[in-house]
Amino acid sequence: MSKSHASVLNTKWIVTNRGKKNKVNSQKPYLWLVEKEHTISGKIEDVGIIFLTNKECPFSCLMCDLWKNTTDKKVSVGAIPNQIEFALQRMPKVKHLKLYNSGSFFDKNAIPEEDYEKIASLLSNFETVIVESHPKFINKRCLKFSELLKPSLQVAIGLEIANDEILGKLNKQMTMDDFKWSVNFLSKNKIKSRAFILLKPPFLSESEGVLWAKKSLDFAFDSGVECCTVIPVRTGNGALDYLLKKGDFSLPEIPSLETVLEYGIKLNKGRVFADVWDLELFSNCENCLDKRISRLTEMNLNQKINKKVICDCNVNFIDN
Ligand code: SF4
Ligand SMILES: [Zn+2]
Repeated sequence: MSKSHASVLNTKWIVTNRGKKNKVNSQKPYLWLVEKEHTISGKIEDVGIIFLTNKECPFSCLMCDLWKNTTDKKVSVGAIPNQIEFALQRMPKVKHLKLYNSGSFFDKNAIPEEDYEKIASLLSNFETVIVESHPKFINKRCLKFSELLKPSLQVAIGLEIANDEILGKLNKQMTMDDFKWSVNFLSKNKIKSRAFILLKPPFLSESEGVLWAKKSLDFAFDSGVECCTVIPVRTGNGALDYLLKKGDFSLPEIPSLETVLEYGIKLNKGRVFADVWDLELFSNCENCLDKRISRLTEMNLNQKINKKVICDCNVNFIDN
């Protein structure tokens, strides 16, 4: 990338490149669903996910598109418990629940602290509850919520990449040390954590993307997380579409995701998942797309390496 681009990739530039937000209702989640996951007990079980409608995250990461379904203002006290009740009434019974709020659960401008007690009581029948947070919001509020909560709490943190220079370019406003400190703080307080890791953020070639995703898995597990999810970076938030046009970003390929997932599972340090949403974005080959999606899905569920997919489309792929 040219120096002139590097110097303008700040919050203002990222926000200027955005399109419009979707219409949302602060009394209703914008999505909820149930999917299968290899849970901590080793069983394949249903896990519910409620995508809460919440105030936009105060950070504006270069690759983030979660702002699309957020409000500009803080939601009122009671809105988040209402959203959880709304989704739970419409969802099949599950033992594990992810509450994703397009930001940080422990940001006091996101989830009002006054709602913690009601939220905890709504969740009392679950075994596991997973929320997400930026390291800057991992503090005493986590402990307060955890004490109120009957299910076991896990916090998902976006490590993104174990490379401080790229973290800076992603406008993540976090360092590797911040991540490590947060995981340690949670562990000391008997709260588990999981990491989100990006496959091929901007400014990296395909092979660098694979290499840094592997290094990031190593760093996340060494820091003490219990689980990692690898997310291939996609366009659609404005900023990345711009960088794609300028040649500073290109979509990762599915075989790269397979390579990183294989590496992570082989580490045998915890659960490793590949994000399998919209995988058709990362393939131009009709011959093997379905086979690769099935392979990744099965590896996610069984945490075992499946036979590689052989196809002419990636004969030259370097499995580094
Ligand atoms: S911290 Fe997370 S939710 Fe907030 S802008 Fe960054 S990626 Fe998006
Ligand atoms: Zn193919």
